[in-house]
Amino acid sequence: MTRRHLLSFAAVPLTAATPKAKLTSLEIFRLPVNKRGDWILVRLHTDQGVSGIGDASHGRDPVTIAEMQKLFEQMKGRSFADIEQLRKLGLPVAKQHGVSGACALSALEMAMWDIAGQIYGVPVYTLFGGRLHDRIRNYANINRANFDRSPAGFAKWATDAVKNGYDAIKLASFDGFPRDASQAEAHIRNGLDCVKAVRDVVGPSRDILVDAHSNFTLERGLKLAEEFEPLNLFWLEEVCRGIPNLARINQAARMPTAGGESIFGTHGFHPYIHGGAVDIIMPDIKYCGGLLELKKIAAMGEAASLPVSPHGPASPIGNIAAAHVCATLPNFLILELGYGEVPWRADVVTPAEPISKGYLTLNDRPGFGFQLNDTLLRKQATKVQ
Ligand SMILES: [Mg+2]
Repeated sequence: MTRRHLLSFAAVPLTAATPKAKLTSLEIFRLPVNKRGDWILVRLHTDQGVSGIGDASHGRDPVTIAEMQKLFEQMKGRSFADIEQLRKLGLPVAKQHGVSGACALSALEMAMWDIAGQIYGVPVYTLFGGRLHDRIRNYANINRANFDRSPAGFAKWATDAVKNGYDAIKLASFDGFPRDASQAEAHIRNGLDCVKAVRDVVGPSRDILVDAHSNFTLERGLKLAEEFEPLNLFWLEEVCRGIPNLARINQAARMPTAGGESIFGTHGFHPYIHGGAVDIIMPDIKYCGGLLELKKIAAMGEAASLPVSPHGPASPIGNIAAAHVCATLPNFLILELGYGEVPWRADVVTPAEPISKGYLTLNDRPGFGFQLNDTLLRKQATKVQ
């Protein structure tokens, strides 16, 4: 063994914990963000001093927290490695409570992978097959930060994201769709003008992603896809409801379509993929069931020749957890980031969320490679449990 080889081993912080570690306790934190919602963060502990972190944000929080507590009670005393067992227990919870139940399952699942990586002494991406991508492209979803729904409002945030190095911007400029049908066309016109304003400020070479948040009928959605043709979208997301309707939009649209953010599990994605709903699938690591489920869904996409672009405009923990799987995916396209919601976003974890010019680069520490920032949590969060 050479001296260099020896030193490379010494640099890996091996843990004294063994694969027999058992789950012992769960901490849950509620971190206020803005009026769109809080971040619900968890830390799961073992009897050997190794802890893992997870993100349970953006379900109905009281339901998510209650279901997470119940799921944890069933997992307490089990091995950190019983991830398929957790999935089995969590499937009926996700079925009963939708995304709120899925968040409970997914957050615990994330934390168990973080623990597994630390105990085996490898980054989580190694457990998922090893890294294909050294850095992960994030797009800046400016929709959650922008409360001025005019073209100028979106243009301001798009300019800010570009200034910070992002070259892909997403907006959902049709939110707040009027119930009064006589106001619909004026609202749609404003939404289109917002996207035009963003194109004007980001220039022709950067990417624009538009999320229609299922506000459209099939007929109006088909027309919308035509209206977007001159704007050269990277994708058009969730124009209307229902797999057959989405498939019609997908066939007719001259740009890629994307969707599937609220779908749980492989069973949910099977009809979506086979129904030809979209060109790009968007499982959310919090809503789809966690890292292992994301890997399985991505494999289904790969078999159907579809790229995968995980949804997830929540905390850095969800972003980092998703990035560990994305790094291993042959069909990874781009990962969502909720841009500009709070100035302290990156500091929710230590070391800080490692994003530079729109790209996230994971470190090579065991597990996720990040801890919760307890100093920030003590100041800003409420401990639920
Ligand atoms: Mg969406």
